[in-house]
Amino acid sequence: MVSAERVRIVVAEDEDAIRENLARMLRIEGFDVAAAANGKEALALVREHLPALILSDVMMPVLDGHGLLQAVRDDPLTSSTPFVFLTARADRSDLRTGMNLGADDYLVKPFQRDELLAAVRARLARRATEGQAAQRLQAEAQRLLHFDALTNLPNRRLMLERVRAASHQSQRSNSRLALIMLGLDGLSQVNDSLGHESGDVVLREVADRLFRQVNQAVFVSEFDGVGRVSGEQFAILLEGFGDDAYLDSLCRELLATVERPYQAEAQQLFLKACAGVALLDAAKSAPEDLMRNADAALHQAQQGGPGSLSFFSAEMNDRGVRRLRLHNELHKALERSELSLHYQAQVDIASRRIIGFEALMRWQHPELGFISPVEFIPIAEESGVIVEMGAWALNQACHQAKTWLDAGHGPLRMAVNLSARQFADDELMATVTDALEESGLPPASLELEITESIAMQGLERTVMMLTALKKLGIALAMDDFGTGYSSLSYLKRFPLDALKVDQSFVRNITTDPGDAAITRAVVAMAHSFGMIVIAEGVETTEHLEFLAGLGCENAQGYLFSKPLPATDAGALLAHMKFR
Ligand code: C2E
Ligand code: MG
Ligand code: MG
Repeated sequence: MVSAERVRIVVAEDEDAIRENLARMLRIEGFDVAAAANGKEALALVREHLPALILSDVMMPVLDGHGLLQAVRDDPLTSSTPFVFLTARADRSDLRTGMNLGADDYLVKPFQRDELLAAVRARLARRATEGQAAQRLQAEAQRLLHFDALTNLPNRRLMLERVRAASHQSQRSNSRLALIMLGLDGLSQVNDSLGHESGDVVLREVADRLFRQVNQAVFVSEFDGVGRVSGEQFAILLEGFGDDAYLDSLCRELLATVERPYQAEAQQLFLKACAGVALLDAAKSAPEDLMRNADAALHQAQQGGPGSLSFFSAEMNDRGVRRLRLHNELHKALERSELSLHYQAQVDIASRRIIGFEALMRWQHPELGFISPVEFIPIAEESGVIVEMGAWALNQACHQAKTWLDAGHGPLRMAVNLSARQFADDELMATVTDALEESGLPPASLELEITESIAMQGLERTVMMLTALKKLGIALAMDDFGTGYSSLSYLKRFPLDALKVDQSFVRNITTDPGDAAITRAVVAMAHSFGMIVIAEGVETTEHLEFLAGLGCENAQGYLFSKPLPATDAGALLAHMKFR
């Protein structure tokens, strides 16, 4: 039973006698009631109190009940608040309008006290179970997304988040940050000779030893800790660790710890390990670089044979030089027409029909040749040119979609990627409306793909921007879901239509039970939020069948088509259907 304590209800009713009577009945039951004489006042109360339930008359001055419901449903903060209409006559068209707008129930006036309370309690109870189920799904997805199932240690994703958080902190406190990457050697021999169960036993023991060793260390700040970042690789993040000599000796202790014998199936086993270390130079490198640099240092150490230790140095890669060059030349790429768009089909899994395309940018550099967006988009983002490039892509994609619609290939949805920087730009709304107007593309045929990083720009602003974009009638999708920040709680506040499961999960979905479990949890969670799921990177029929089994709606990937130049994509579209 739902406790009546502190449960808030907003009542909207223009007839004073009825309103006061209602409020009194509910207060006697212990509910906290806020009452309004019209829809407009009620809306203000709803926004202020975020009630557990709204009871509303249909016909009211200023703003009627349908208008109130519409406004309540449009606001992501209240879009799922239970809404019950009170109406004098059960007019069928009224009923239909209300239900279409998303009313949960109807009470026909005059009603008995018991009838009212039963309806209120039923709605609240339903809401409570839904809330609990959604919370469980969320918690489960959260855990799977951030922890390695075998060792219970943070996984690569969570470690990267901690690196980001720690680097913000270390910038403020001027402390140093180090990441040790420890790679095991000999694990595959254990797996091959004794089986995976023994391999798992050993891995858990490695995790345990590293965890204990690191926690004995004197420094331990909130971000310090061990994670398992890939099958045979552990990462150790340290903040404020003193001098390099200390770091060096700690690494050697960690290596020695791992090299002590293991016991599995009454046998003594031995592992070897190497370690690579990278330091964050807050002024010069991005948090992501710390992970990459530590990987590079480990790679270097592994060249030196088992037991080696290596510190990252700038010479380990010349990425920096190339990066600088691309950074300088990206500005000219647009005016020199070196950019183009390719289009990758998105398919409805049930019917195997093409339902749309994702527009993907390509850069053909006159000297360096083809450069992947994976490389140049982050650079464009950093320098800010992404705003201009993104606007170009949006226009181009809208025109292309309109051309295909005019050729009779509709209905069709064109998905365009939006970077965090574009999202932060004040001109975004104008850019989007201009692109729609100039191309004549119906807004419903446009989908914008955003990434989890936009949540970092302040929740309120993000919710407001997304709501405004939705009001234009375009669709919104969350891209690369599962690769970014930790908070799932924001998801339900964003008015999203679709969630794209990142290809890193899909890749191993039929072989890695962990990835399968994550994907299952993510699909269930998305559905509980009323979103559809688009799987990225679908390469095999096995992938597709597995995803279909999870109830995933749409798919995109090489199984159907690679991203293609416009003419080829148009030809594909003319066929429409995959077998
Ligand atoms: P994304 O938005 O997640 O796009 C999907 C990427 O997965 C594309 O890489 C696509 O070619 C690749 N892909 C699709 N199917 C498969 C498959 O079955 N297997 C594998 N292995 N890969 C597949 P691409 O084109 O290299 O783009 C990389 C990323 O660059 C995109 O990831 C997106 O984040 C970014 N990007 C591309 N174009 C734009 C753009 O116009 N604006 C912005 N802001 N970002 C863009
Ligand atoms: Mg995308
Ligand atoms: Mg993606």
